[in-house]
Amino acid sequence: MEELEKFKTQIAMCNICAWCRIKCPVYSVTKWESEGPRGRMILLRGIVYGLLEPTQKVIEKVYECTSCAMCNFNCDAGISPLEVMLGARRAFSRAGVAPPPPNKRMDMRIARDKNPYASPQEARFQWLDVTLPEKSDGVLFVGCVNAFRHQETVKKAVSMLKAAGYDFTLLKDEVCCGMHPYWDGQTELAKQLAEQNALLFDKTEASTVITPCAGCYSTFTKAYPELVGNFGFKVKHISEVIRDLAKEGVIELREGEAVKVTYHDPCHLGRHCNFYDPPRELIKLIPGVELVEMEKNRSEANCCGGGGGLFTLNPELAVRIAERRVKEAEATGSKYLITVCPLCRTNLDLASKRLDSQLRVCDLVDLVASRLRVTGEA
Ligand code: SF4
Ligand code: SF4
Repeated sequence: MEELEKFKTQIAMCNICAWCRIKCPVYSVTKWESEGPRGRMILLRGIVYGLLEPTQKVIEKVYECTSCAMCNFNCDAGISPLEVMLGARRAFSRAGVAPPPPNKRMDMRIARDKNPYASPQEARFQWLDVTLPEKSDGVLFVGCVNAFRHQETVKKAVSMLKAAGYDFTLLKDEVCCGMHPYWDGQTELAKQLAEQNALLFDKTEASTVITPCAGCYSTFTKAYPELVGNFGFKVKHISEVIRDLAKEGVIELREGEAVKVTYHDPCHLGRHCNFYDPPRELIKLIPGVELVEMEKNRSEANCCGGGGGLFTLNPELAVRIAERRVKEAEATGSKYLITVCPLCRTNLDLASKRLDSQLRVCDLVDLVASRLRVTGEA
């Protein structure tokens, strides 16, 4: 497995100290060595030195990872266990022995339908009645989870930007950003999707891509430059755009119910992209809303459990990880758990319902929309 050989040095450098394991969300919940980063490094060492066969069971362990990047922040040996894990997934995929069946089926659906929900492409924006220009300086890339699961939030985001006079358009034929196949090691499929989207962005003559999804954001900023080469677009998360409009006075946020909220840092915005402040700054601009941090926040924030394809492979485990995060949010005494990622939102919401929690999981766009007064005055 040539791709895995590239990581032989990193794998050999691992001194099996287990620092990376302490904060791994999967290990923290299951307590199985093989389901933490150190255990995976040991399994991969066995494979690169020819002592272990990459059986389906072993491969599954490599896929039981949320791609949260916590291990990268905790390895004193200077290894990126996550980079090694992605390399291994790519190597197994190239050898035709991965991804595991649920992930493979999901990737096949994405290749066929351009979304993970087995819905026809025409259904992506059938529910959205809006007229926007064909060419614009900004493109709003909605992403699959929002387009198929959180349509009310998208409608609010579109109305808000439109009412504020923000120069943007939307691609009715956008395709999945490719995050799922990318983290599954299905690089060719991720590349095809990236090229398709990059071509669509080009046609709009936009300079900036705006997204309300943490996964799309990290895929555009981290994966697209690798997949399509010269991806020359500026990428903004929608929370940045709305924060700026609110700061400029174009969007006026009015006083409402005095509430405490807490904010969940999505791993793919936080640790992956060092993006921590804009959502917090926006929350603090809303009169009457008090932001109370969870004990684990910013680069220390615990994962929601849904990323890296884990929600596809083992949804039960993904929700158990989310339950841990919901309990941390409950401890702040907040009424709302705010996210800026539709996948985190979906997973945390499932966990909150399963725990019968009083905490309401909500996208930041929904919170802002409930306190909105657009003045149109810049
Ligand atoms: S990326 Fe996160 S889930 Fe995956 S091994 Fe590292 S700490 Fe564990
Ligand atoms: S912290 Fe680094 S050196 Fe220690 S077990 Fe994890 S990957 Fe290996």
